[in-house]
Amino acid sequence: MFKKILIANRGEIALRIQRACREMGIKAVVVYSEADRDAKYVRLAEEAVCIGPAASSLSYLSMPAIIATAEVTDAEAIHPGYGFLSENADFAERVEQSGFTFIGPTPESIRIMGDKVSAKQAMIKSGVPCVPGSEGALNDDPKEAIRQARAIGYPVIIKAAGGGGGRGMRVVHTEAALINAVQMTRAEAGAAFGNPAVYMEKFLENPRHVEIQVLADEHRNAVYLGERDCSMQRRHQKIIEEAPAPGIARRLIEKIGDRCAAACKKVGYRGAGTFEFLYENGEFYFIEMNTRVQVEHPVTEMVTGIDIVQMQIRIAAGEKLPFTQRQIVNRGHAIECRINAEDPWKFVPSPGRISMWHPPGGPGVRVDSHAYTNYFVPPNYDSMIGKIIVHGDTREQALARMRTALQETVVEGIQTNIPLHRELMVDKGFMAGGTNIHYLEGWLEQHRR
Ligand code: ADP
Repeated sequence: MFKKILIANRGEIALRIQRACREMGIKAVVVYSEADRDAKYVRLAEEAVCIGPAASSLSYLSMPAIIATAEVTDAEAIHPGYGFLSENADFAERVEQSGFTFIGPTPESIRIMGDKVSAKQAMIKSGVPCVPGSEGALNDDPKEAIRQARAIGYPVIIKAAGGGGGRGMRVVHTEAALINAVQMTRAEAGAAFGNPAVYMEKFLENPRHVEIQVLADEHRNAVYLGERDCSMQRRHQKIIEEAPAPGIARRLIEKIGDRCAAACKKVGYRGAGTFEFLYENGEFYFIEMNTRVQVEHPVTEMVTGIDIVQMQIRIAAGEKLPFTQRQIVNRGHAIECRINAEDPWKFVPSPGRISMWHPPGGPGVRVDSHAYTNYFVPPNYDSMIGKIIVHGDTREQALARMRTALQETVVEGIQTNIPLHRELMVDKGFMAGGTNIHYLEGWLEQHRR
């Protein structure tokens, strides 16, 4: 096992990874930008190195700064967390070339999955059901695009192969609008992602977002840890996640989970990963794979009792998965609310000093956050300041615990989206379960203030 790991991230996930290391008796080195000097994970760390100014491009995205820090601190492995360099194949490659272990999949896997066209092709070959769409990227021939769209049936969605973060997509309802949409998306994709390739998919009207968590080791073992429902989204950004997904038959989850695990073996995937699906009318349609730990991983940890971050580290160290599929049991129900420093109704970021931070507690309540009283939320990064996660025997109990937890939570000095979460936890539609990806935006429309 590694003696020392460098954590190339910030915020709650830097603290989360540090906790995993501590429990395993591994020393953790944290890196931080000038804006994060006072963050909790920096204060708690036995070793912390400032790697640059607030701008991410000069700190958390600086490969030379991070690799040099690993060298001077004698770290053996680098955990990239999520966001920043976590899905950058060049970074993974440079880490390995510099003699460190990258805690994640191989650069080749990251590269294949990072391009949605090649990811989809790999999935089709592995027997994972995908959204019907173009065979590979669209070429320059407008007639060909029209033929493909007719074959798929309108509405269709044009997506950038290199897209991410909910950007680089355009829905097309009629043939008249098709060619223009392809050209615009291509131009945008080239400018935003440095890759002008686009592809076409059937646009599903009212799907849910259901994803499968997998773990695979380098000894050709792969398992799935069940699913998460992440349909509560605004502008393609998840704000509430839960496990299991309400109302989906277990045998259906098992079937799709088996396919995902089999695909991992087929493509030689290693580490933690997530297969993202749209789910509509009882069918799963793969949209993309995330080759890293996700923000919402705790709901799966709560229902399985498996520490996903520790598993990432064990797998990177070459260990075998310590369980088989049959030994993985999902128990009860877990819900996560992402706490963002923002106006709860207008969604304008609200950075600044937290004058009072009182997190909730009690049975089945977990808080993953780097915030504390007097912590200054820097304006330079994502607005998420933490996550409240609850577990209960049933979904009803989890909901009740989340309501209590949100009621107990006090954050003063900045605005947060806690008031929004409080209302959603008593909303009839959400309480019934199984809402689709448009539900939250529709709800916000109706509850405008
Ligand atoms: P990103 O990498 O930018 O997150 P995804 O491919 O995961 O892109 O898609 C993001 C979101 O866009 C999905 O969660 C869904 O809301 C919407 N979306 C993507 N593809 C489709 C589709 N074929 N039909 C309907 N909605 C889609």
